[in-house]
Amino acid sequence: AAMEITARGVVQGVGFRPFVHRLASRCGLAGWVENTPGSVVIHIEGDVAALSRFRALFVPETPPAARVTRLSFRKAAPAGVLGFTIRSSRSDGIALSTIPPDIATCPGCLRELADPADRRHRYPFTNCTNCGPRFTIVTSLPYDRERTSMAAFPMCAACRKEYADPLDRRFHAEPNACPACGPRLSVRGGDGAPVKCDDPIGAAAAAILGGSIVAVRGLGGFQLAVDATNDAAVRTLRKRKRREEKPFAVMFRDVDSVRAAARIEAADEAILLSPRAPVLLVAARARSPLAPSVSAGLPTAGVFLPYTPLHRMLLDRVDRPLVVTSGNATDEPIAIGNDEAMSRLRGIADLFLLHDREVVQRSDDSVVRRVGRGIYPIRRARGFVPAPVILPRSFPDVVGLGGELKSTFCFVKGDAAYLSQHIGDLEQAPVRDFYEEAYRFFRRFLDARPRAACHDLHPAYFTTAFADRAGADRLFALQHHKAHIFSALAETGFAGKAVGVAFDGTGYGEDGAIWGGEFFAVDGMDVRRAGRLAYFPLPGGDAAVREPWRTALSLLRETLGPAEAGAAARELFPDVPPESIRLLLQALEKKINVAPTSSAGRLFDAVSAICGLCVRSSYEGQAPMRLEGAAASKAAGTYPFTLSEEGGQLTVDWSDLVRGTVADARGRLPAGTISRRFHDTLAAATVAAASRLAESAGARHVVLSGGVFQNATLLSRVLSGLRKRKLTPLIHRQVPANDGGISLGQAYFAAAQVAGG
Ligand code: ZN
Ligand code: ZN
Ligand code: FE
Repeated sequence: AAMEITARGVVQGVGFRPFVHRLASRCGLAGWVENTPGSVVIHIEGDVAALSRFRALFVPETPPAARVTRLSFRKAAPAGVLGFTIRSSRSDGIALSTIPPDIATCPGCLRELADPADRRHRYPFTNCTNCGPRFTIVTSLPYDRERTSMAAFPMCAACRKEYADPLDRRFHAEPNACPACGPRLSVRGGDGAPVKCDDPIGAAAAAILGGSIVAVRGLGGFQLAVDATNDAAVRTLRKRKRREEKPFAVMFRDVDSVRAAARIEAADEAILLSPRAPVLLVAARARSPLAPSVSAGLPTAGVFLPYTPLHRMLLDRVDRPLVVTSGNATDEPIAIGNDEAMSRLRGIADLFLLHDREVVQRSDDSVVRRVGRGIYPIRRARGFVPAPVILPRSFPDVVGLGGELKSTFCFVKGDAAYLSQHIGDLEQAPVRDFYEEAYRFFRRFLDARPRAACHDLHPAYFTTAFADRAGADRLFALQHHKAHIFSALAETGFAGKAVGVAFDGTGYGEDGAIWGGEFFAVDGMDVRRAGRLAYFPLPGGDAAVREPWRTALSLLRETLGPAEAGAAARELFPDVPPESIRLLLQALEKKINVAPTSSAGRLFDAVSAICGLCVRSSYEGQAPMRLEGAAASKAAGTYPFTLSEEGGQLTVDWSDLVRGTVADARGRLPAGTISRRFHDTLAAATVAAASRLAESAGARHVVLSGGVFQNATLLSRVLSGLRKRKLTPLIHRQVPANDGGISLGQAYFAAAQVAGG
């Protein structure tokens, strides 16, 4: 008997064909395996028992770095071949779709790295078909060594032999290298002057242990490394990087050392040790070896493990956790070139640990949370990109251009949606340049001919202006929060009736108001606004974002009236000059520079200020993060809330909620109690509103999206509340709930528009 198996997804450049060869040989089967564009096709023949054994072992033994998104087994006609062969690739049509993401060092390579008898003992660039750089070294396509930055390193005879042997772990490992032929490390001083040194990693480790900041050329660009147990050193890094309080990610040598600093469970370990090796946000321990300035007042920690041999060796040498953060000044893209880094990071780094393998594609570290057993992405870059999100069906070529903050773009090609790596906030020219550069790369190597491009409704976004240059035949504008809902629909493939909830910072609304606490009636690809948080006047400008007390004052005025609001504000915000309070009350009275908003994110800002947790904010998201961080673990009751109808929209009235928090804050209740009550109340109101809308629409599903749902406290309560009401929540698992995911929603929307005529 014979069988044909097709595996789609990330199946090339990850050791898939050698794995199939080994498994077929073990089962005593004849046949062949070959790469085709976007998939691996396997033909096996032999007796029925052997075929079913192969089939049973196939999924459990798939290489860890592979991500099979579609798998089909079909009966085939025996071809009468002898033995099993790896057929050479059909290279026609190979596109970006076949490049795998970068993969963390595999156990086999780690063993060799530690083995004094191995020829790659302590070689910081070792890799194999199961691991190593991929996307970040690609200069053009198809993916082979000649078109990566490894082209500069001709393989030695020993490496070439491995590369050519179908049974070797390095068969067609394009970045294959060894100390004889591969990339090398070097060291430069903070001024860029070469430092003579036989042991670059030792020199970097010694500098770090001495409290210095070392710039390390990593996988997707430069990183700044500093001793995470040295508070003075971490504070110096903050000052030089102009990053006041935003938490730093910390790299630990191994899972055991993570446990000393954070509370992690088995499911967290699995995420940390996965081939994508993301930064995982977890609960920090109160007594921890980490310096206080690492997380700067938040009870969470971003933790990760070494994912290249270089990181592994550095962590072994310092034998303590390191802050490892992207090599840039705040608001700039990560530096990738040696010269670029030495000029841009001058004055930040005291020492440069360099190497001569060029980083071609900029890629920050990815960040995730764990929700249930799976990941909940926060920032999607290294290890994820360019693996696509698979859509429920095929579409014409289209592109979604993303938002303004945490931007990404997304090309749809067939049934695959390719998101770019996290690019960043598009307010500064260098980040815009990065966006355009990445856009050109993706467009060219996906061979995308977008029939349509979709941008945000906001007229002032960079991506809205870019739409004219996107190279598409038609343009669509999609409201920001609808794009959030579409992104969740795209990745879940859900096509029925549902309620959509988008809780977010701010987005340009269809009625000219600033949206951000929205409920939608979803029916297939039809998404209509069905409800919202009640509007309140949002003081405009950057000042209101940096100073949450301003938003709070507006809410105080709405709930207590102008006179009482002033008194309450002076009491709650003793550090704010009374004159500033008076001026803002005046502006609110005359409606100068204020716009109505339904933003859930701004409500968090305001309550965080009312509790005294974050009256002024030093980075985006600090106020809500502090509020969540403070929430007491014990339930403490809730505030009242009301749902009402207003012009056909279900409206969630927060005035009793705000009144309650203000009374508690003025009554000197602990911030943790107020925060817990606030979270529980907002969750209850969200569940009540969603279930009322679900009932009237005959829906059983609730789609949750928007950056506010990165708040694990809110999310977990909304999830359990929905389940109690027999509603099925749909949440993000592949792209961020924040603005990093909206390009997918825009692309999905445009794809459906074009496909529908
Ligand atoms: Zn490996
Ligand atoms: Zn070699
Ligand atoms: Fe958003």
